[in-house]
Amino acid sequence: MKLLFIVMDGLGDRPIPDLGGKTPLEYANTPNLDKIASLGMNGLLHVIAPGVTPGSDTAHLALFGVDPYEYYTGRGPFEAAGVGLEVKEGDIAFRANFATISDNGVITDRRAGRIKTGTEELSKLLEGIEIDGIKFLLKAGTEHRAALVLRGEGLTDKVYGNDPKVEGKEPPIFKPLDESSEAQKTARVLTTYVMKVRDILSKAEINDKRVQEGLFAANFLLIRGAGKVPKVPNFEEEYCLESACVAGGGLYKGIARMLGMDIIEDERLTGGTDTNLEAKFEVTLENLKNYDFVFAHVKGTDNFSHDGDYMAKAHFIEKVDKELYRFLPVNFDQELVIMITGDHSSPCSFKDHSADPVPIVIYSSDCRRDEVDKFGESYAVKGSLGHVVGKHIMGIALNEMRLVHKFGS
Ligand SMILES: [Zn+2]
Repeated sequence: MKLLFIVMDGLGDRPIPDLGGKTPLEYANTPNLDKIASLGMNGLLHVIAPGVTPGSDTAHLALFGVDPYEYYTGRGPFEAAGVGLEVKEGDIAFRANFATISDNGVITDRRAGRIKTGTEELSKLLEGIEIDGIKFLLKAGTEHRAALVLRGEGLTDKVYGNDPKVEGKEPPIFKPLDESSEAQKTARVLTTYVMKVRDILSKAEINDKRVQEGLFAANFLLIRGAGKVPKVPNFEEEYCLESACVAGGGLYKGIARMLGMDIIEDERLTGGTDTNLEAKFEVTLENLKNYDFVFAHVKGTDNFSHDGDYMAKAHFIEKVDKELYRFLPVNFDQELVIMITGDHSSPCSFKDHSADPVPIVIYSSDCRRDEVDKFGESYAVKGSLGHVVGKHIMGIALNEMRLVHKFGS
């Protein structure tokens, strides 16, 4: 039996007067989601705990059954894993920006003019740097973004980065956040590193060209968000499921990769996270043939929430719904358990995450159906799952798959 897990980022919302007092999900015309709701078990999901507003990172850990209070050490490690760096337990990971520094040491653009191409070549020039026995691994992400990993003895994440946050200022020095020798050392090697980086990047051909074209040179790195790479449980081993992740965003891929899932890279998925929903769900469908578990992440719902654009959110949910036909029991020829939810609510009126629980539906062919026949916040509360907590949903899904997740003799 297979398990399909669809997460719509920031799905949950609040009633909106312009939508007749419905949420965007309730307002949207969603025949396929409603079908799954009518055949499945429904409930409201408190992703981390009631009253706790999740970040997207901590939320996904919880959804995969990993307690964020025990394992979360900051976003850096997941971002690093997301761009494809093989992070190891104990590494110190950072988020980084290619930036522009002037000859007199002032940051003139924090994103090197939102540089579009060339950062991969630039990061290659920085390969193999080692300072005091510490290896520096840098990998370019999208546009100006990159991830940096420090590997070696005597390091800590108790160090503050060099991002001035505003342009026209000199980058601050790396500051140790405690008195430990590890913090002193980490700050010291980072200081030496960015001096080297500046030296190497300033001589790069790509930057000469950029300056000639009137563009900002990508001649510096701003480094922030230190996090020590935690030892996280292996999802595949924990649940005995061959697992795959279909996602666009680096953070989601990073979390999945660190938990041991295979990341599906398919050329049909490039060009933005949700630009081609049809391709995303086609790739998901294909991978359900090879894997026991496929996690498909949809980002658009959260983006529209942050804009406060409830109508666009509702229309986007309709587009997602349209692609779900391929997983309906009449169209999918194997026993499939389907779990659909969000990683948190992002009410359009907040333009941000909230602690409101999100609707969840879990379907299997012989599950205990309830009376709920529509997928939405106010309907889900009447469902048989009641109020559930994020770390419990994998167990509930495994039970539907006849996989024993037993406690006791
Ligand atoms: Zn999210």
